Amino acid sequence: MDGFKIDHIAIAVPSITDAAATFELLTGHTCSPVEELPDQGVNVAFVGSLELIEPRGPATSVARFIDRRGAGLHHIAFRVPDLSEALAKYRDSGVRLIDEEPRPGGRGHRVAFLHPKSTGGVLVELVQE
Ligand code: ZN
Repeated sequence: MDGFKIDHIAIAVPSITDAAATFELLTGHTCSPVEELPDQGVNVAFVGSLELIEPRGPATSVARFIDRRGAGLHHIAFRVPDLSEALAKYRDSGVRLIDEEPRPGGRGHRVAFLHPKSTGGVLVELVQE
């Protein structure tokens, strides 16, 4: 079996509108329309394989992340063929899950997050192909 490939890398920013031009310049891609994910407390947009995430309010986890650490690298996402199977495998291997069940993510995908305590200090998202 081939290993999982990186689906995207996410960067937390205070404002997608303010940050878009910088990442368009860096990547040569055009920023997608902003998608609202109220369940996750964020809005997201994609610039090539970068996901820009902005908090929808001051009490959201991404707002707290930016308060604590400033804007910057937030998570990496791997593309998996079967999210439920991947979650079961990681759970059985003792990996701490943030999401026990898949939830709706950006671009209409199902996603789930793993706890950074179990993944080398990096927040990891799984995205179903
Ligand atoms: Zn993501």
